[in-house]
Amino acid sequence: MFEKVLIANRGEIAHRIAQVLRAHGVRSVAVYSEADAQAPHVKAADEAICIGPPPVAQSYLNQAKILEVARQTGAQAIHPGYGLLSENAGFARAVAEAGLVFVGPTPEAIEGMGDKAQARATAQAAGVPVVPGSDGPVTDDAHAAALAEAMGYPVLVKAAAGGGGIGMQQVKKAAKLKRALQSCRDRGASSFGNDAVYLEKYIESPRHIEVQVLFDHHGHGVHLFERECTLQRRHQKVVEEAPSPFVERTPGLREGLTQAALAAARAIGYRNAGTVEFIVGPDGQFYFIEMNTRLQVEHPVTEAITGVDLIGWQLRIAAGEPLTLQQADLAISGAAVECRLYAEDPARKFMPQPGHLGAFVPPTGEGVRVDVGVTAHQPVTPYYDPMIAKLMAVAPDRATALARAKSALEGFVIEGLTTNRDFVAEVLGTPEVQAGDFDTGWLENYAKGR
Ligand code: ADP
Repeated sequence: MFEKVLIANRGEIAHRIAQVLRAHGVRSVAVYSEADAQAPHVKAADEAICIGPPPVAQSYLNQAKILEVARQTGAQAIHPGYGLLSENAGFARAVAEAGLVFVGPTPEAIEGMGDKAQARATAQAAGVPVVPGSDGPVTDDAHAAALAEAMGYPVLVKAAAGGGGIGMQQVKKAAKLKRALQSCRDRGASSFGNDAVYLEKYIESPRHIEVQVLFDHHGHGVHLFERECTLQRRHQKVVEEAPSPFVERTPGLREGLTQAALAAARAIGYRNAGTVEFIVGPDGQFYFIEMNTRLQVEHPVTEAITGVDLIGWQLRIAAGEPLTLQQADLAISGAAVECRLYAEDPARKFMPQPGHLGAFVPPTGEGVRVDVGVTAHQPVTPYYDPMIAKLMAVAPDRATALARAKSALEGFVIEGLTTNRDFVAEVLGTPEVQAGDFDTGWLENYAKGR
């Protein structure tokens, strides 16, 4: 294991990584921007270094500065968390060139899965079903129109370098395709510096279900079952759970998904923790959509039902240790749910609502864990993702986990900011969520109908 690790991130995930490092007896180095001097991740780390002004380009994305801090502090490895530099193959390479360890997969695996059009081809070659769509990026509008016609509308136009649902457009009829292609190209260019787009058939009434995998450097890998991430707004997850209620009631689906996930990961020589994402139709047909080559926001629900310390394993694997978990020893125990708390307004299309936080008292209780990214009486700035905390509840059964999450949310004191807390608590009590009966459009529709 390492002696000292730098955490190149902020918010709840940097805070959590610092706690896990402490639990493993590893010293931690936090980096922070001028906006985050009071942030929990700064206080939780053994050392903390300010790396620049609030905008991420000048702080959390400043690779040279982060590498310099790693050298100065004597860190041996860098944990990138999620978002920010976590899926930046150039950064992973620069870390290695500086003689440090990047806690994640190889730069080649990041690149191979980072181009989503290429990732589709890799998955397909490994025998994993993909959503019907274009073979690689589409450059010619007439060709795109012919493909869409052949697949049948609705179709999705997606940015090849996409993430966070950015640029993605659903197109219901041919007349709207050209405009959607152009706007997706523009968003891809401005957000990811890459204007390549590709087409996928839009799977009606879909669920988003994903599989967690862990691979070591010695060719050994396991899956840690699935997560249900269907409750979304703007193509971004809000409530996640494990196991998936849909997988639980669909014979053979868990086996199909988990074997496909392992095959996709093996096809790219995957190392460390990763997640293979699938769209699942109401008929139980599943299709690969992408692989996230990093830790996911929602990893705690997997930890809760398997008892596996995912961040701990990320660190041990990065240090070259063998993965000693065996598939046959892994089992699902109970049910877990995670609610993402955002400074946003569900009544106004979930628009971010930065502001000044007043009192902030996370709930405690049996089976409840809260990972926080903020402290009381602090500004929540528009510079970063508006997620301020994650609340997890685990219980022997799903109904109790949902009930625990709901009452914990109701007892969560958050003053001074508009958040989605009450909305999420209400959602957990709906008959659809209680029955596990929803698709990826359900949450937004529910918000509209309130
Ligand atoms: P991103 O990388 O931008 O997050 P994804 O490809 O992971 O994009 O898709 C994000 C979400 O968009 C999914 O969780 C799902 O709700 C929806 N989605 C993606 N592809 C499809 C599809 N082919 N059919 C229906 N919904 C889809």
